[in-house]
Amino acid sequence: MSRQTQRLSLMAPSPGTERMLITHCYGTPGQGPKVYIQAALHADEWPGMMALQHLIPLLDEADAKGEIVGEIILVPYANPIGLDQRIGAAASGRYSFDGSGNFNRNWADLCAGAKPLLEGRLTGDVTQDTALVRDAFRTVVADQAAETPVQELRKILMGLSCDADYVLDLHCDGEATVHLYANERHAETVNALALDLDCPVVLLESTAGGGPFDEANASPWWQLATELDGAAHLPNACFSCTVEFRGRQDVSDAFGAKDAAGLMSFLRREGVVKGEPSPQRGTTFSNPLQATDVVHAPGAGLISYCRDIGEEVEKGDVLAVLIDPTGVNARIELKAGTTGIFFARADQRLVQPGDGVFKVAGSDILDYRKEGALLEA
Ligand SMILES: [Zn+2]
Repeated sequence: MSRQTQRLSLMAPSPGTERMLITHCYGTPGQGPKVYIQAALHADEWPGMMALQHLIPLLDEADAKGEIVGEIILVPYANPIGLDQRIGAAASGRYSFDGSGNFNRNWADLCAGAKPLLEGRLTGDVTQDTALVRDAFRTVVADQAAETPVQELRKILMGLSCDADYVLDLHCDGEATVHLYANERHAETVNALALDLDCPVVLLESTAGGGPFDEANASPWWQLATELDGAAHLPNACFSCTVEFRGRQDVSDAFGAKDAAGLMSFLRREGVVKGEPSPQRGTTFSNPLQATDVVHAPGAGLISYCRDIGEEVEKGDVLAVLIDPTGVNARIELKAGTTGIFFARADQRLVQPGDGVFKVAGSDILDYRKEGALLEA
């Protein structure tokens, strides 16, 4: 079946306006693995939109050759609400203007909703029970409230993703190398994805916390397996990953083409599209997210970086200097708290106290990094 493009109307936020989501669907639902990929849930992070723009013709070509084995759903922009949020000329797409917070936090708890639906119903057969769980997830999402535009958007996106085998949520950082967040239970798959995407850094969590979209899709499987009687045989049936496609300004046809080729390689690797994968690198630096040092600004001021993104650094190296523009206070050196890869830094050069300034992916667990509270606000 050739690509099906659908327009999903969203509730009008005010008289005289309308919003919509677009989905591109390949393959046949129920046949083969299901993949869900969305871009720009944080609506001021645009590299993923460029990647999907370049992935569409690749999938069209594969489709024409009869190579699509599974089902693939692309959402080229996941957050039309955030896309039109501006303060003056500045895009502001991370937090909803309606007060409901970060668009990528507090996603629905599918496990809590599905448990009462599944109690006493599992058969012990993995295939059958995987289908039962997915049915339950769909019911949980269908029963969610959708009284506000943001609630409605969340319900639609989760409705598209909740029964998928693979969920890729495309984001970016301020200035960064490509990096991936995923659960340690899926280390093998995310490390393979990293090679496909030419991604030098993988960050593995056991519990990120905060309810991001990736964890909301993947974690209900192992939560059910431990919390529901007779569910220990359930597989971790949803691989979910937050893909950080470099920095906010890294939007170009060249990056888009490279990233789309990487996604295509992963789809072939996982048997969603026929053909051989074509990884873009041979190794990646894959370590616990608890080993990632996040340095925050101790005060307000200008930031001058001393090292470049992607460099290997030693614990104690000065990576940035915080400068009080009044000239009254001393310059403060900001040092790496671990040895590893300097992979992300803030794009704004004027920071406020407490702002995240840079991140270094290390190998040693850092005491101040707590499971369940590993993500930025
Ligand atoms: Zn983001």
